[in-house]
Amino acid sequence: MKVLMVASEAAPFAKTGGLADVLGALPAALAKLGDEVAVVMPKYQSVRAEGLKRIWNLLPVTFGPSYFATAIDEVLHNGVRYFFVDCPQLYHRAGIYGDSLGSYPDNHIRYAALTHAAVGIARSIFRTDVFHCHDWQAGLLPHLLKTAFAADPALLGTRSVFTIHNLGYQGNFPASAVRELGLDPVHFHMEGLEFYGQLSCMKAGIVYADAITTVSPTYAREIQTPEHGFGMDGVLRTHAGKLTGILNGVDYSVWSPESDPHLAAPYSSGDLSGKQACKRGLLREMGLPENLARPLIGIVSRFAEQKGFDLILEIGDWLMAQDVALAVLGAGDAPMQDAFRALAAQHPQKLAVRIGYADALSHRIEAGSDMFLMPSRYEPCGLNQIYSLRYGTIPIVRATGGLADTVDSSTGFSFDEFTPEALQAAITRALHAFANPTAWTDRIHRGMAKDFSWDASAQKYRDLYHSHGTVTEFS
Ligand code: ADP
Repeated sequence: MKVLMVASEAAPFAKTGGLADVLGALPAALAKLGDEVAVVMPKYQSVRAEGLKRIWNLLPVTFGPSYFATAIDEVLHNGVRYFFVDCPQLYHRAGIYGDSLGSYPDNHIRYAALTHAAVGIARSIFRTDVFHCHDWQAGLLPHLLKTAFAADPALLGTRSVFTIHNLGYQGNFPASAVRELGLDPVHFHMEGLEFYGQLSCMKAGIVYADAITTVSPTYAREIQTPEHGFGMDGVLRTHAGKLTGILNGVDYSVWSPESDPHLAAPYSSGDLSGKQACKRGLLREMGLPENLARPLIGIVSRFAEQKGFDLILEIGDWLMAQDVALAVLGAGDAPMQDAFRALAAQHPQKLAVRIGYADALSHRIEAGSDMFLMPSRYEPCGLNQIYSLRYGTIPIVRATGGLADTVDSSTGFSFDEFTPEALQAAITRALHAFANPTAWTDRIHRGMAKDFSWDASAQKYRDLYHSHGTVTEFS
């Protein structure tokens, strides 16, 4: 079985969030199970990959009035072929999705080009059985396979899986994009590509894919409700028969305190002494008092409405009055960044904030903190709470999406209602529990023993790919 994954980011080449972690690890886990998997993504200006080589000089991409002379580069990563679509006009820019002025106005064209290049790769370079399309950036591909390319001899029998990593980002564009992208207007209606008068790339994936997945079982249920459906809940209920939730795994070769090169000291479930050294190092790095007895809460996140940090700011006065310290790493919404900075300026002994994206520091916060806070409004899967479990850092989470599927009362603390009171109550329970070192250490051990490696989840994707026959075995 040959599977071509199509996505806008993949670690370690380009990353803004959990999507990249999935694309960095799932393909190798699938390859281990015996499938041949490759990934295609844009060659952004920031992509650095040792051993990257040009394998295809001219792959013309045409749609609507557009023509792009792309080239394909390839690098082998964890035994998986990663193809990069080289098209400087589209991808050689300061950001991945946008810059300080906002999203790039031609993102629909940039990702339609990725989609068409993926088809070109399937025709000429990597004969594909299943296109596994990730998020709206690859959403047009299932549509094209069922329509414009339905009779293409090179693609006959190919199928598509569409994975929703975050329904909050839908790739909706003005109706004029239909013509710009060379789509047939006959499909621009409510049961097709149209979403309230706009072209929706997310909806294109949902409606036309042979199978839809999302990244946790709870999120698969939640997105079918008005509360979490972002207006797509009706469409998702219509297509519920082909929708499943498959929990993301994590890459323990990157996220394990025994072998993490970023930490002050390694540690394991059997010997937690290094965790104290990590805590001391983190307090020092963040400029907080080196008080090891005081509980330290870590946060690593994008600052976006989804993540629910407005709740923390609402209980800021109460929180700062507790015997606790906070180490925060985040970037995103400017008002949120400013609010955290302001609170830290008022309470420099208790709250330290770093604004930005810092991979090594994110590892040290996971290791050096006692607790990890994720009060998300919604969370499709969430990775940091899973990293926290492995790092013996007790998660405090809102029970939604993947947070509900990975944290239970034996390993962490959760709250249901999205209210400041509920968050405050959960933190209070955690602080009380911290005061009992024996029970706390037991809790740490239970969390560290949890296994969310990719093996089980990769097998579920494999079952999905294999639920019909293959093309290549007959060709
Ligand atoms: P999302 O994809 O919604 O941002 P996830 O929890 O699924 O949330 O994945 C977030 C990933 O991005 C994790 O690997 C996390 O460590 C990383 N991350 C998020 N914000 C930062 C940051 N400011 N600095 C470093 N890493 C970050």
